Amino acid sequence: MKHPKVFKSILSAAIAFGMATTLQPAAAESNDKRNVILIIGDGMDDTQVTIGRNYLEGAQGRLVIDNMPYRGAVQVLTVHENDPSKFIYVADSANSATSMATGAITSRGRIGTSAKDDKDLTTIAEMAKTSGFATGIVSTANVTDATPASFVAHVSSRGCENPDMMVNAEAFAGVIVDCSADTKALGGKGSIAEQIADADIDVVLGGGQKHFNKNAEAMPKPLFTVAQDNNYQYITKAKQLAQVNPNQKLLGLFSESTMPVRMQGENGRGSEAPKPSFLNKVDWRVGDVEMPAPMKCEANPEFEGMPNLRDMTAAAISHLDARSANGFFLMVESASIDKQSHARKPCGQIGEMQQLDESLKVALDFAKENPNTLILVTADHGQAAQILPDGSLFNAMPVAVYPMGMVSRIITPEGQIMAVNYATTPHGFPIEEHTGTTVPLYSNQPIPAMLTQPEIFNLLKDHLQL
Ligand SMILES: [Zn+2]
Repeated sequence: MKHPKVFKSILSAAIAFGMATTLQPAAAESNDKRNVILIIGDGMDDTQVTIGRNYLEGAQGRLVIDNMPYRGAVQVLTVHENDPSKFIYVADSANSATSMATGAITSRGRIGTSAKDDKDLTTIAEMAKTSGFATGIVSTANVTDATPASFVAHVSSRGCENPDMMVNAEAFAGVIVDCSADTKALGGKGSIAEQIADADIDVVLGGGQKHFNKNAEAMPKPLFTVAQDNNYQYITKAKQLAQVNPNQKLLGLFSESTMPVRMQGENGRGSEAPKPSFLNKVDWRVGDVEMPAPMKCEANPEFEGMPNLRDMTAAAISHLDARSANGFFLMVESASIDKQSHARKPCGQIGEMQQLDESLKVALDFAKENPNTLILVTADHGQAAQILPDGSLFNAMPVAVYPMGMVSRIITPEGQIMAVNYATTPHGFPIEEHTGTTVPLYSNQPIPAMLTQPEIFNLLKDHLQL
């Protein structure tokens, strides 16, 4: 139980007697606030964390995430679009983020809407805003991408990111999406970018300028202008993060699309296929195999000029903290653990894992000064990358044993080789699959040892007392 009035009157008495050199009124006020910082590593199952740890801190080392005092396991739940009574066992970011944001179980591709009957589901960010909390989303993906979108928008398909993508549009390589019923013409809320531009969200930071350069539905006006009319200050450069006006909402978009990642393979290398000899192709019991050459990870030159996720998180926290006397809800996504695993690029994953870890440090530092801050770190679903032996466990046998996937042999700072294998799709197909696994949940406050993904919503709601 808190007694802010009593505390404040003691504080003013102390100030009157010249005693308050360390107690500041601002600290008393901020300690009354309730805050939630939810950090989502997209695709960040235990294997992806381990790849990051091995490279960044060494096999015996600890990431910031590893030092979180409480840890649980989360069951990821997904249902069939046409029959929501039936479960399927692998999620996408849209349905899993919707679970965390709304407490509901839905089908893949859906943003803040229910399977089959397409009802809008109220999100934790909307509930928090209604109760006087400031709200924010930060992502290294497009801010219209599935994870951030699920906290602030309602649309039947994740592909409907801007007004040009609403009716029979090609989301990617022959995949058609249709959100006709969500168009404003038919009484809907419009595309994800329009919903963000129209919304009352205090902070939106990430990539995705291309979606906000589109004109609003039936209006000769780009969406970033619509957002400005709705009291957002619009920034596009990292250095502007330090000069934002707390009296306005903040929309910062720093890249056309997904933000470039921090790290890449040597000379841009990704994973490569093992090359079996002709004889081995004919019969696996004979011949040999040539494995991809080892490589180092290096800085990605395209990352130059991008804000770090750490800097975006710090800017978001300070903006949100300044904009509400009650506290805030903030969702931070490190998106490219997933995207780089899809692309079989472990160095990109490692850099993105590092970005998540640095952002968590920022959140923990804030929570030190503001103890009523719940920090949760979790993943939305599993990803393809696996760590395999570099040189088979069965090498003593007189046959060539090698993985059937695409492999990166990464030279770690410890001077060892970590072999990362991707084997969920054929070699020629450019994208790996998600995988079905429980995912970790880390917290700075006690949490259940095992919970379902929709129950994360309850933790958020209970902490904010909504
Ligand atoms: Zn994915």
